[in-house]
Amino acid sequence: MSTFTELHLDERILEALDAEGYQTPTPVQAETIPALMDGRDVMGIAQTGTGKTAAFALPILHHLATERPASGRPIRALMLTPTRELAAQIGERLRVYGRHLPLYSTVIFGGVGQSPQVKALRRGVDVLVATPGRLLDLHNQGHVDLGDIQHFVLDEADRMLDMGFSKDVERILRLMPKRRQNLMFSATMPKAIGTLANEMLYQPVSVDISPEAPTTDRIEQYVSFVRKGDKRELLIDLLEGQMVSCGIVFTRTKHGANRLAKQLEKVGIPADSIHGDKSQTARTRALNRFRNGEVFILVATDIASRGIDVEDITHVFNFDLPNEPEVYIHRIGRTARAGREGLAYAFCDETESGYLVGIQRLLGHEIEVLEDQPYHFEKARPKPGQKPGRVKGSPVGGPSRRGTGRGRDMRRYNRGGQKRNEQQQRNNNSNRGRNNNRSRPGQRSDQPNRPSGGRPPQSNRHRGKQQGRSNASNRRPSNRSNRRQSRRDDRS
Ligand code: AMP
Repeated sequence: MSTFTELHLDERILEALDAEGYQTPTPVQAETIPALMDGRDVMGIAQTGTGKTAAFALPILHHLATERPASGRPIRALMLTPTRELAAQIGERLRVYGRHLPLYSTVIFGGVGQSPQVKALRRGVDVLVATPGRLLDLHNQGHVDLGDIQHFVLDEADRMLDMGFSKDVERILRLMPKRRQNLMFSATMPKAIGTLANEMLYQPVSVDISPEAPTTDRIEQYVSFVRKGDKRELLIDLLEGQMVSCGIVFTRTKHGANRLAKQLEKVGIPADSIHGDKSQTARTRALNRFRNGEVFILVATDIASRGIDVEDITHVFNFDLPNEPEVYIHRIGRTARAGREGLAYAFCDETESGYLVGIQRLLGHEIEVLEDQPYHFEKARPKPGQKPGRVKGSPVGGPSRRGTGRGRDMRRYNRGGQKRNEQQQRNNNSNRGRNNNRSRPGQRSDQPNRPSGGRPPQSNRHRGKQQGRSNASNRRPSNRSNRRQSRRDDRS
């Protein structure tokens, strides 16, 4: 399927897609849209970032625009999603795709006052995007009638069940007419999803856009359990012990990125930050400094890091663990580009253990623990049988607030691996003639001032925590070789 026109969507939708610059349907769209246009149910395995929102939104908007209701403006389509961020994103996409259609949509979710939502419902909507709790709440109060639903989407079904919404989903299913079109999207296919699919879907067409196996084989990964307040010292220890030549440190917040870069500079580690609050000029400057080796460390937020295309990254530090496991894969994938090896460190504090569980589940194995470090904090380790996701007191926000930023990297998740292979080939060719003296983990670099990466910080193991602190804060050497010297002095 090479164009949207071939999908027989309403002209007004095509016009909106054209304005958005969408030229070709993504694989999930190419497979899902025809089935939904035919009125079939669909079971889709696809993640955010594959274009799945348009895959269900476009045919549903098409149906709603062409089939007028008998009277009034009843809710004819319901899109159920587990989080308010996703609900808001779907709502925003519906407005974009349906901007030329005489249809109304609204989004309802908890955690905010209900009256604007009730007002919008009273005015009448064709499409309702909702999280389960608030939907049932407003239904119980008589503000929502699901008796005319013709199209139902259950988005991120696995996450929905993980978040404990299965009873709510079942209740909602009972509030809708039996004859309706159903679509379920899930990133994974655990048994419970299979059971729910059997209950909910009628002879569904299967669409499977599973992500390719994460290419993490060449990346050595470690996790450190550490108190939040000790993360900075641990990072400094690792950076010094390893002589990291080209590393990215990921933080959750822009403010955190700024502060950390400044703190690293203060202890003599050349660093800069890149985040959404910086002007484009400041971001470009930081990137250039990183590329030309003026700074060894770039502290970045996920959103800002999208534009970083540096091939020689040897180390990735997850200073804060991402709440979305896929983001972890994206982050560590910044190293080990073009056939190189890489090292990835994750810092897990007591509020992030659930995120680590999710990451390890996605990886399919546990990450090796760096226990022999001065800030080891056993309580941050996940409990046996702990579920993935947020634990009490864990930070929210970060990437998931505005999406994970995976949209731009869609090829990574699509099946069409050909383009990526071509890119890889190009990279390999262009590297052939280049200086290949770049540092690799565990190997000394021939380049002056671009010291090599290395294994976990053996050299620091004898140090006590207090000593580590005072050493770091007293030291302000002017360049990297001085820093190397100062490490030797520490040891002697
Ligand atoms: P989603 O997986 O629905 O969150 O979509 C991820 C991103 O891809 C969003 O920013 C969409 O605007 C974008 N997108 C979806 N479909 C297409 C397409 N066919 N061409 C280009 N961009 C798209």
